[in-house]
Amino acid sequence: MFRSPFMRRLPALLLALAAAPVAAQTARPKLEVLIVVDQMRPDYFDRYGTEFTGGLARFLRSGVVFTNGFQDHALTETAPGHATLLSGRPPASTGIFANDPGVVDSASVLVPASATRGRMWPGSSPRRFRGTGLYDWLLARDSASRVLAVSRKDRSAILPVGRARGNVFWFAGGVFTTSSWYSDSVPSWLYAWNMRGGPAALTGKQWGLFRDPATYAEADSMSYENAEFGERDFTFPHMLPADTGRMLLKLRDYPWMDSLIFDVALEGVRGTGVGRREGTDLLVVSLSTTDAIGHDYGPDSRELHDQLLRLDHWLGWFLDSLAVLVPREGTVFALTSDHGVQPFPERTGTGGRVSFKAMAQRTAQEYLARYDIPIGVTWDLGFITADLAALRARGVEVDSLSDALAREALTMPGVDRVFTPRTLARAPAGDETARLWRRTIPPQQDWLIAATSKPGWIWVDAPGWTEHGTTQRVDMHVPIIFMGTGLTPRRVTRKVTTEDIGPTFAALAGVRPTEPVSGRVLPEIAPPR
Ligand SMILES: [Zn+2]
Repeated sequence: MFRSPFMRRLPALLLALAAAPVAAQTARPKLEVLIVVDQMRPDYFDRYGTEFTGGLARFLRSGVVFTNGFQDHALTETAPGHATLLSGRPPASTGIFANDPGVVDSASVLVPASATRGRMWPGSSPRRFRGTGLYDWLLARDSASRVLAVSRKDRSAILPVGRARGNVFWFAGGVFTTSSWYSDSVPSWLYAWNMRGGPAALTGKQWGLFRDPATYAEADSMSYENAEFGERDFTFPHMLPADTGRMLLKLRDYPWMDSLIFDVALEGVRGTGVGRREGTDLLVVSLSTTDAIGHDYGPDSRELHDQLLRLDHWLGWFLDSLAVLVPREGTVFALTSDHGVQPFPERTGTGGRVSFKAMAQRTAQEYLARYDIPIGVTWDLGFITADLAALRARGVEVDSLSDALAREALTMPGVDRVFTPRTLARAPAGDETARLWRRTIPPQQDWLIAATSKPGWIWVDAPGWTEHGTTQRVDMHVPIIFMGTGLTPRRVTRKVTTEDIGPTFAALAGVRPTEPVSGRVLPEIAPPR
């Protein structure tokens, strides 16, 4: 190990780094690390930054912090957000415009990941993702480049990598696994990790406060929180079920899920050797628990505050542990998010809840009754799609149907603007909302209406949880922070987007996107040579 080519070259590399001007990244990184905190809003750093002592603190204090970073599209959800991060392109170009259908793929079945849990889960793959991303660009120069991506969610592990095969793992049925898109088995290191039963050891565990209760300013007992499906669990401590099967289904809503992601990622760095070759490798760690807790308790809750303190702690441990495996000098990081989140309308007293569920379901039933065809009407937030070819085949005037749905939508409280395919095509170039929808909807995608909500209105038909997915600033505004050797801590206030991260990582690695991208190389991170 100590005789690896990298270690033998290390003294020379360190001398070269010491001699280099501090503002420029001189050596190509061995490992580019993307850390995604699902649903992380930048204002959490403002609120809790002084309390962070671990990994989030390190990004905040040692990183180049872009304070005006955005997911620059309309359906601010996990799948489209993650697909922008390393592709350099918006959802209209990646083809991943919403969570559904996203990565669902029954042809790519989940592989058996351990001998203990055989439950079948729907398969997942990047089959709908179009074009290339950072990992493809790295492979184009060096076919030996390696990738490791780990998340609780399938879409969050898959989409930053793109279509390429690689080490892409997510949590399903109590174990970490992959799908037949990538492999017909899990690697031995992951099999061994699963067999150790780490998740099951959390059965019955109690989630209490991480720090002294006096240091939490938020009220704990807010009865509008976490009331989905009739649950009434909104005060500390929260208890994981004493039954392991039920606990594994609830674990996603508890902070420890993120610690498992970090642990699998580190085990994977050991097992795959990413970052320990000549050349540049890619590591993606996407953490989903902030999203789950944010949905349940909201961005202003004591629970979210506690989750961020724990995430900060574990991220610090992860960064220290990673540095043992891959020298810090060879590593460059970006931390970002796939979207933000809205406060509970019940907390703010403004806005409310609005949903197209009833309208979409009624429309589907009407056409089934009238024409005996399932027209595949589905809705996701403010977006309604259908099988337009099936409608046209029965002589249905699709534009009239769109217009009728748009008129009905505009009668609902909280609905701000509604586009149909015709009105979006006619909208002027300076129309900001139209611009966001054009960046969201792939040209070949069938759709009926695309709506935006008024400030404070969320696309949720039931109480008890909150949501993201709108074009409001709290949903689009995300942290973008780079950290690594040669980067001097600073704040950058100009507007940037998550599409800039992939091309910037590419420039640091000395490769270029192999197709046109909308994202731009951030000169604060990768100055023109
Ligand atoms: Zn979410």
